[in-house]
Amino acid sequence: MFTKKEEMKWRCPHCGERQLNEVYVRLSVREEPASLNRILDTSLFKVTCQNCGHEEYYTGPLLYVDEERKLMAAMGDVHDFAKEKDAYLALGYAVRQVPEIVDLCEKVLISENGRDDRIIELMKAANTVLLKGQQYDQMLYAPDEDNIYFELIKDAGSIGRIPFMEAVYDDMKERFAADLMNECDDETVIDLSWALDFFEKHYQAAV
Ligand SMILES: [Zn+2]
Repeated sequence: MFTKKEEMKWRCPHCGERQLNEVYVRLSVREEPASLNRILDTSLFKVTCQNCGHEEYYTGPLLYVDEERKLMAAMGDVHDFAKEKDAYLALGYAVRQVPEIVDLCEKVLISENGRDDRIIELMKAANTVLLKGQQYDQMLYAPDEDNIYFELIKDAGSIGRIPFMEAVYDDMKERFAADLMNECDDETVIDLSWALDFFEKHYQAAV
């Protein structure tokens, strides 16, 4: 069994009660397919104070493995990450490090949609050019029932969205395929700064 839970000691910031809660430290989608929805609605990370009912979120370390999509994602300071990374890269997985729950959810959504997160980040980088001057904290890949958007987040709320263009995705995927294959195979932090660096390195004239 790959999936593993551990008792986490924590102190409720609301009432001060010290307690133990079970949290996932390793999670296999094959073993626990129902966990996918619980990740996306963030209920999997929730710990509730046994004394006052206050809710907190567990933000890692968590090693997430989707065997079917071949995605390994590490949230927080995962034990022996370098070793885990090499093992999963050798098995042909995409290996990613994510800082927070929202970033893990985004990687999971992108993977569930069968897309390459590197292309998604390159699209975000292209969007930043269009959004010059607009202030936001994060741009997230955000599918709803009918459409896909890039959602702009500021102070934890949505301040607007940009349509996701399928044709742009396909075009970028084709255009950057060779460079992505040559350069970035073992890069594990794939975010907007990674994408901006990629453009600067390969397409200085284009941006
Ligand atoms: Zn409490």
